[in-house]
Amino acid sequence: MTATKTDTVVIGSGISGLTTAALLARCGHEVTIVEAKRKPGGALRRFNREGIPFDVGFHYSSGLGQGQFLRALWDCLGVVGAIPTTPLSPDGYDLFSLPNTNRQIKAYYSYDRLSTELCAIFPDECGGIKEYLATIREMSRAMPFYNPTLPLTPFLRGGALANDRPLTEVIGACTSNPDLQAVLSAPTFLYGVPPKQAGLAMHAVVAHGYYSGAWGIVGGGATIVEALVAELTRMGVKIMTSSPVTALKMAGDQVAGVSGVDWQLTAKNVVYSGHPHHLPGLLPAEALRPAYRNRLRELEDTVSMHIVFGEVAATSPLPLLDRANLYQLRPGFELLAPPGGAESATLMITAPGRHDGPATPAARGVILMRPAHLGEVSRFDRGYKSRGPGYAEFKEQVMQQMLADAAVFGEDFRTIRPLAVGSPLTFRDRLGSPAGGVYGVQHSRHQRPAEARTKVAGLYLSGQSAMMPGIMGASLAGLVSAGEIVGLEKVWDMVRECS
Ligand SMILES: Cc1cc2nc3c(=O)[nH]c(=O)nc-3n(C[C@H](O)[C@H](O)[C@H](O)COP(=O)(O)OP(=O)(O)OC[C@H]3O[C@@H](n4cnc5c(N)ncnc54)[C@H](O)[C@@H]3O)c2cc1C
Repeated sequence: MTATKTDTVVIGSGISGLTTAALLARCGHEVTIVEAKRKPGGALRRFNREGIPFDVGFHYSSGLGQGQFLRALWDCLGVVGAIPTTPLSPDGYDLFSLPNTNRQIKAYYSYDRLSTELCAIFPDECGGIKEYLATIREMSRAMPFYNPTLPLTPFLRGGALANDRPLTEVIGACTSNPDLQAVLSAPTFLYGVPPKQAGLAMHAVVAHGYYSGAWGIVGGGATIVEALVAELTRMGVKIMTSSPVTALKMAGDQVAGVSGVDWQLTAKNVVYSGHPHHLPGLLPAEALRPAYRNRLRELEDTVSMHIVFGEVAATSPLPLLDRANLYQLRPGFELLAPPGGAESATLMITAPGRHDGPATPAARGVILMRPAHLGEVSRFDRGYKSRGPGYAEFKEQVMQQMLADAAVFGEDFRTIRPLAVGSPLTFRDRLGSPAGGVYGVQHSRHQRPAEARTKVAGLYLSGQSAMMPGIMGASLAGLVSAGEIVGLEKVWDMVRECS
C-alpha cells in the first residue's frame, strides 16, 4: 500500500474538481486529484462513433462574453487563450417550434431583440413579455456572478436561491397563452427541473445567462478539460486517474484523507465532486448524523434524457443547425414531461461539433435529446451497465420516434443516420447520478441542494450541480469549494479582478 501526504485531495476530475484544484494551486496549496475513470473530464468527455467525435455533456454555454464569469475565471486560471469559443448566432441561438404556431420563434441573446421578437409573435401579450424579462434582468443584478461589484459571501449564506416564488405563478401572471408559457419556461430544459417544480431564482440564474450570450467551444468540453489539465500539470498538481476512492479517512471529527484499493493519501481537506448521494457510502457510519446522511442519500435528481447521436448525410447539411439549437416544445408548462396522448415530448436538436469547423468530422455529428425518467427503462435494469431482454428494441423504438419528430424542422432531418443511443440507464451508470439526471442534483422549490461545507470538518462538496447546474454552475461550485478552504472573498477577488 502506497501512502502520500498532500494539503487537499480533490475527488473527481470533472470541471468542478479541476476548477477547485486550479484555484487552490494558485493560492499555493499542494493538491492531488484522484479520478476513478481512465481519463479526466467527467461529463465533459468526447467519444467517437464511426470517426465522428461526440460530446456527452456539453453543447453550449453562457458566461463566456468579455467580462462575464466563466471567461473571467478561465482568464484568472491562465487557460482562456487555450479555449477558443464561438458565439452562437446573434440572429437566433435557439429556434423554437410549437405544434400550433406555424412560424419558428427565435431566442436572442439580447433582451431588446428577444422582447421585439416575442411581441411581434404574441402582440396581445407584449405587456406580460416585458414584465417577465424585466423581472429576470432585475434579479440578475443581485447575483455576484452577473454583477461582480457584489461580494460573494452574503449571496451564498443568505439563501438567495431558496424559498422563492413558483416559476409557473410568475409566468402565469404574465401570460395565459400556452405557447408563450412554453417559450418563457424553455430555459428549464437547461437545468432539468420541470417548470411546475421550478423556482424563479434558479430560473433567473440560467435564463439571464443565455439572454446575455450563448457560445460553443471549438473541440467541445474536451478542450476545457485539456486546457485545465495542462495548467494544473504546469503548476505541479498530481492527477491520479483509474483511482476510485473507496473510503474517506477520519481523525476524530475531522476528515484526514482518502484511500483506494491499494493506496492512501493523507490530507487536511477533501473536496468530493461526485454526486452527493454517494458521499455517505465513503464515510464511516458514525461520521454523519442520520438526518444529514439521509438528506444526501435522498437528494432528487434533475430529469434524465433519451439521447441519439447521429450523422448528417454530406448532401444534407441541415444549415439550421449551423449556429443554433432547435427545440420542438410542448405547450404550457409541460416542457419536461414525457410524451403523453397525442402530444410529442419536447425534442432538442443540436450540432455542437460544428464549432470545430465545417470540414471536420465533428461537424457531421447531430445530437437529439428528449426528456425521460428512469422509470421508463427500469424494467431493463440488471445493475451497472447490464440490461435485460428487450432493451435494444425499446431504444430502437424511442430513437425512431425522435428521428420522426425531428422532421418538424424539415424533411432533410429524416436523413440523420443514427450511430448511438443512450437512455436514463446510460446516464445513471456513466455519470453516477442515481436517477440518471443529466444535470445532477435538482434545484427546485421543494429541494435545496447541500452546501459546499459538509457536516464533517475539512470535507466539501462541489460536483454535479451541488451549487448550480451546467458548466458555469459546476465552475462556480469549484470556486466556492476552493473559497471555503482559503477564503471565499479572497478567491472571489482573484476572479473579479480578471473580469
Ligand atoms: C447530456 C448532457 C448534456 C449537457 N449539456 C450541457 C450544456 O450544453 N451546457 C452546460 O453548461 N452543461 C451541460 N451539461 C452539464 C455539464 O456537463 C455538467 O454540469 C458538468 O460537466 C458537471 O461537472 P462536475 O465536475 O460537477 O461533475 P462530473 O463531470 O460528473 O465529474 C465528477 C467526477 O468525479 C469522479 N468520481 C466520482 N466518484 C469518484 C470516486 N469515488 N473516486 C474517484 N473519482 C470519482 C467521476 O468519475 C467524474 O469524473 C450536460 C450534461 C449532460 C449529461
